[in-house]
Amino acid sequence: MGTPAVTELMTAMRHEQVVFVTDPPSGLRAIIAVHSTALGPSLGGIRFWSYPSEHEALVDALRLSEAMSLKAAAAGLDQGGGKAVVLWDAPDAPRSDALLRAMGQAIDELGGRYIAAEDVGATPHDMQVIATETPWVTGMEGPGGSGDPSPMTAFGVIEAMRTVMEELDGDRTLAGKRVVVDGVGHVGSHLARLLAEAGAGVAVADVNPERVDTLVREIGADALPVEGALAEPCDVLAPCALGALLNETTIPQLRCRAICGAANNQLADAAADDALAARGILYAPDFVVNAGGIINLAEEFVGYDRERARARTAQIADTVRRVFALAREEGVPPGRAAEQLARRRIAEEGAGRRWRPGDPAAWTNGAPLLSLRPA
Ligand code: NAD
Repeated sequence: MGTPAVTELMTAMRHEQVVFVTDPPSGLRAIIAVHSTALGPSLGGIRFWSYPSEHEALVDALRLSEAMSLKAAAAGLDQGGGKAVVLWDAPDAPRSDALLRAMGQAIDELGGRYIAAEDVGATPHDMQVIATETPWVTGMEGPGGSGDPSPMTAFGVIEAMRTVMEELDGDRTLAGKRVVVDGVGHVGSHLARLLAEAGAGVAVADVNPERVDTLVREIGADALPVEGALAEPCDVLAPCALGALLNETTIPQLRCRAICGAANNQLADAAADDALAARGILYAPDFVVNAGGIINLAEEFVGYDRERARARTAQIADTVRRVFALAREEGVPPGRAAEQLARRRIAEEGAGRRWRPGDPAAWTNGAPLLSLRPA
């Protein structure tokens, strides 16, 4: 059997549109995947990555854009999911302004159907150059931009974690609980500080020892070896590094009561969701828990206001509660319940609609959406 054709993959995953972009003079090769605009314009990051093949880049764009639709829908946002990947063999090497401008033009041609943000491999400079060609870019520093989303993401994770404690112990307090933060980069380091402020005992691990040392000094965190972090006894394990860490090898080693962290795609596959439930470990689904970042971005559409973004992010606590309730009702593990919640909203509220350039958005009071932010 050969590799499935592009439109077959799109049909199977229900994608609306995939745009292949090249600009031979600059060497740009990119794929923009718009999964769904049923709830509004699609939003998602631009990833610069070295892929073994174009097919793998396509599959990544399809998978990531679908995940963005689910994340936005579960968070109650009036937007869909998209993602762009730039095929780039040296992810850390700077790229020419011509390449970035060509990418900006391709995004602009979609007229708002795809709204960009920074993702793995992209730098603030990349986003600035892209934004010279199109207004459809979020997460920029400066006037109207929401800047670095990671403090808001960390705030959302801790609110979700309080609901996890409520589910386990009937009490939202984190004081006296032991939390292992695996990966203390942008989000993990903020989370560790918030946990210490809340009176939790914090243990941290990271492949970068300096990041661990800083938190040991600043908040008195316990330092854990990277290989031992998952097997450390604790109330909550907060994965804040890479994805797919919950798999058939690691799940039997876990000694936590619950999992609640920022990393994307924590479950290696659907079986991991069942395996955690079978072990009696409560899993707070990653895409619900880590939505603070896109909630923060979406606030730009109505004129960015940090306090409003915080209030909206705090509602992640209620969404996690709804997910646990649905999981109980349906007798399914929480990961699947969260997916059901998101897909139902897309099907019911989205009702098969597609957002076209110049259509109104939920926040424009019936007026056409002609720019990313209010004038
Ligand atoms: P980051 O790169 O700043 O931090 C990741 C940290 O993990 C780094 O300190 C790195 O050294 C460490 N790390 C890498 N491999 C490790 C390993 N095997 N064991 C332990 N530590 C390891 O990234 P970030 O922005 O903090 O994001 C963390 C995760 O959260 C990612 O999966 C990201 O996709 C997800 N996420 C982030 C945001 C956000 O607002 N930044 C929003 C949603 C989801």
